[in-house]
Amino acid sequence: MSSFEDYYDTSGFRDGHLDLLRRIEELGPRFATRAAEVDRAAAFPTENYRELAENGFLKLVIPEDYGGYGLSLFEYATIGAEIGKYCGATALTFNMHTSSMLWLRFMYEMPNLTPEEKQAFARMRDIQFPKVVEGGAIFSQPISEGGVNWTSEPIKTNCRKVDGGWVINGFKKFASLAGHCDYYSIVCTEHFEGVAPRHEDTMDFAVHKDSPGLKIVGEWDPMGMRGTTSLDLVLEDVFVSEDDLMMPAGVFPKTLPQWPAMMATLTPAYMGVAQSAYDFTVKYLRGEVEGQPPIDRRVYPTKRAAVARMFQRLAEMRALWTTAFREARPFPAKAEVMRLYAAQYAVMEGVQELAALAIRTCGGQSMLKSLPLERIYRDSRCGALMLPYTSEIMEDYLSMMTVYDMDEVDSAPADTVSARVSMWRPASDAA
Ligand SMILES: Cc1cc2nc3c(=O)[nH]c(=O)nc-3n(C[C@H](O)[C@H](O)[C@H](O)COP(=O)(O)OP(=O)(O)OC[C@H]3O[C@@H](n4cnc5c(N)ncnc54)[C@H](O)[C@@H]3O)c2cc1C
Repeated sequence: MSSFEDYYDTSGFRDGHLDLLRRIEELGPRFATRAAEVDRAAAFPTENYRELAENGFLKLVIPEDYGGYGLSLFEYATIGAEIGKYCGATALTFNMHTSSMLWLRFMYEMPNLTPEEKQAFARMRDIQFPKVVEGGAIFSQPISEGGVNWTSEPIKTNCRKVDGGWVINGFKKFASLAGHCDYYSIVCTEHFEGVAPRHEDTMDFAVHKDSPGLKIVGEWDPMGMRGTTSLDLVLEDVFVSEDDLMMPAGVFPKTLPQWPAMMATLTPAYMGVAQSAYDFTVKYLRGEVEGQPPIDRRVYPTKRAAVARMFQRLAEMRALWTTAFREARPFPAKAEVMRLYAAQYAVMEGVQELAALAIRTCGGQSMLKSLPLERIYRDSRCGALMLPYTSEIMEDYLSMMTVYDMDEVDSAPADTVSARVSMWRPASDAA
């Protein structure tokens, strides 16, 4: 297995960051050993979480003032990618927890909050951060509802004001960590009598796992990322109070669109999966995979050419991805956002190419379930479809940003001037 020092210039890395990366190198081999059973049983990697918690990883991005490590977004991305090298499902779910903490951390620091919003937000952080730092709580982040890109329309799950708080009603699709977290970070829209649901009324609550009215439903037997236990949630009159708020009312739509890198945090897990596909291939060609006969397959020029291509693709992905996370900031420039979208696309598409090439290169025996590559291949297929930055959506956004100025985007006649005028139609329609 490669070391992070093989692909990052670590000369500018802080000591604390390096210590955490080295800690993952120690824990990782155990994650990799457990990954096969986690995948087979579609079971949550509980043991991995116990070890991550014991080693302080739950508080990675929590500010130092609150007892966390205060890692930057880039520093976190490198940790997520290292975890993903050993177990994709652990890294992906770990991101849901960390992303909840990132929002509490960075949205608060945004310059477009009013003093009143900041004051209210500070109180919420005082309640939420200690749950993790002192209580070891795990947060999930179930936003998706199925059937819609949740950045385009107000979230359907809703809350209504009642005495002493709100009641939440709704449905969440693919709630990773379902049944294995302490709090579900539930994003919903506050509904008011006679007013159509609006983005500006988006709320975010930490709903405790034992809240009456919260149910985990559905089946979880997917193709890949099986250890994420992403079942569905139903919320029926779930009561929440001011103390459960993760953000003041209206802060979500005011901040998140201006911090687009916050939505790219699913990529570290897949960057790690890509690295593991490459690492496995090298080990396999060298005849060094445990339990396998020590056959030297490096002697085939075709295999060497393929692994060279894998290295090139991986290096390209990592360079773009590293740049995007290093320059990530709120209120980015257009060029930075385009690089971020390109990085997201490169990772989510590239990971699949690498995993497919790894199977082709290693050959028939490598796709046996006794080896990790076939799991890596299945896991690699899941990244490109994760909202809000699916590969299709990245293509769509970049297709506009490359050829239009930003002030033209909303009025561009995108779908009306269509190549579809020359598309085949059945004769009856053409008549
Ligand atoms: C392993 C795994 C774990 C997950 N964990 C979580 C989690 O913890 N939290 C969470 O919130 N979600 C999670 N998800 C859900 C994920 O982010 C998606 O919401 C989910 O996969 C639904 O996608 P869909 O393709 O079924 O979308 P649909 O329900 O079919 O609906 C939206 C569709 O509209 C398309 N669309 C919207 N705008 C455009 C556009 N401009 N151009 C082209 N297409 C567009 C989208 O691509 C998408 O296909 C997880 C998914 C997986 C696979």
